[in-house]
Amino acid sequence: MDKPKSMIMVIFGASGDLTRRKLMPALYLLYKLKKLPVNFAVLGVARTQYTDEEYRERINLQLHRFLKAEDLNESLIDSFVNMLHYFSMDPSNPNDYLHLQPKLLELDTKIESGEHYLYYLATPPSLYGVIPQYLKNVGLNLDKGVRGKKRIVVEKPFGYNLDSALELNNVYYKDAFREDQIFRIDHYLGKETVQNIMALRFANSIFEPVWNRNYIDHIEITAVENMGVEQRGGYFDETGTLRDMVQNHLIQLVAITAMEPPMAFNEDSFRDEVAKVYQSLTPLTEKDMHEHIVRGQYVASENKKGYREEKDVDPLSRTETYVAMKLGISNWRWNSVPFYIRTGKQMPTKVSEIIVHFKPTPFLLFNCSDKQCPTANQLIIRILPDEGIVLKFTMKVPGAGFEVKQVAMDFSYKSLGSLPSEDAYVRLIEDCMIGDPTLFTRSDAVEASWRFFTPVLNFWETHPEIPVYGYPAGTWGPKESEAMMQEHGVQWI
Ligand code: NDP
Repeated sequence: MDKPKSMIMVIFGASGDLTRRKLMPALYLLYKLKKLPVNFAVLGVARTQYTDEEYRERINLQLHRFLKAEDLNESLIDSFVNMLHYFSMDPSNPNDYLHLQPKLLELDTKIESGEHYLYYLATPPSLYGVIPQYLKNVGLNLDKGVRGKKRIVVEKPFGYNLDSALELNNVYYKDAFREDQIFRIDHYLGKETVQNIMALRFANSIFEPVWNRNYIDHIEITAVENMGVEQRGGYFDETGTLRDMVQNHLIQLVAITAMEPPMAFNEDSFRDEVAKVYQSLTPLTEKDMHEHIVRGQYVASENKKGYREEKDVDPLSRTETYVAMKLGISNWRWNSVPFYIRTGKQMPTKVSEIIVHFKPTPFLLFNCSDKQCPTANQLIIRILPDEGIVLKFTMKVPGAGFEVKQVAMDFSYKSLGSLPSEDAYVRLIEDCMIGDPTLFTRSDAVEASWRFFTPVLNFWETHPEIPVYGYPAGTWGPKESEAMMQEHGVQWI
């Protein structure tokens, strides 16, 4: 797929945090890499009033704040911000779209974009349904084939539960855009190391024969961060960790770890296999929800605030900032292999990794020098930080006697040279521009994921007695999540 020659990217929510922290730096980096269309402009849209000049100055400042020093190039930044335009309107008011249409046509004539528009929805999720409808009302959804392609990118969360996701898909989007015009973004899939899991599994022959219930004991997936909710308390308090992280990012990691080899690496084959994993998740019974899900909320510790003291958070909030759960996949490959997943805020460190725990040897022939005497192999896929892969295996301790200990074979992606870009948005925005939806979530996958997780949300809502365990900020979450794993005789690494 080739880079288009012309395009206007219309960002709804252009005065917001995502635009300044992620979208603008990613667009600038694409510009620096000469990957933007030749005729290109951004039309930022939000209610705040700015002139084009004010908006450019603001973005210029923010690029200096959010880009790495080595990426800053003053003359490039100046020419980049000159491609930015701003239009003040309320995206929740249908009448304002009557003014957006001529504004776009004016810009279209100026830069000869050929009416190729890429809409990016970086607004509160409550507007995700109405914007496509209001675009349709004024004909801005019409895709005219060779001339005037229209695509729409939607941020997470796509829906609040199964019903709202179905409504978004079947009512608001289906009516205005075709599935191939819709890009539901999940920035985890834009990460180089997440894509590399597929290379590890499907470009090597040694892993696939053992990648199943006969050889794997359990799988552990962790994606935690050492920050609290920062400035996003209001959004987070309405959302919670299950919706914000588990239903989308963590389950994507489960899917990539568990999926069958796709027939090809293309949008249909890859996304078919992802959807099949979601559809095979073993439905959770009420007993599972009691015993195999732990939710927590960080409380104040030393110099760190508790969640309930954060700005815009309800002081009596029961919103979870931590979730650990045990999942099963009911298919031939994975039946009876537990997947333990956990994610949380205000943990001791920021780390995302997948650990494949192989079964131990059937019999231990040697003494072990380590206290815990590990005999089982582990494959650790580190997504963040220090992207890489570690294989742990057991070797003889040098010297007399025959003691063994576990050692590690450690591969770091840095050894391949610098990664093209650390930011997933660079890759994903480029994919939207060229129209490659492979790494974007398809409607059936979104629905299958919500079908699995909505009963958990309903269960929590109807069972207020289910605890939200407090954990001191800066620790590894509630101790109850350890107990959940001990049932299987294992522990978090
Ligand atoms: P912000 O609240 O910072 O920005 C939201 C934008 O929408 C602003 O430009 C604001 O502009 C506009 N807006 C806010 N309220 C309304 C309203 N009631 N009606 C119309 N416009 C409104 O949010 P973020 O930028 O943080 O997030 C945007 C979306 O991206 C959210 O859905 C979030 O879930 C998602 N997201 C954000 C990430 C991040 O790191 N920030 C990461 C992943 C996803 P104005 O007030 O000028 O109209």
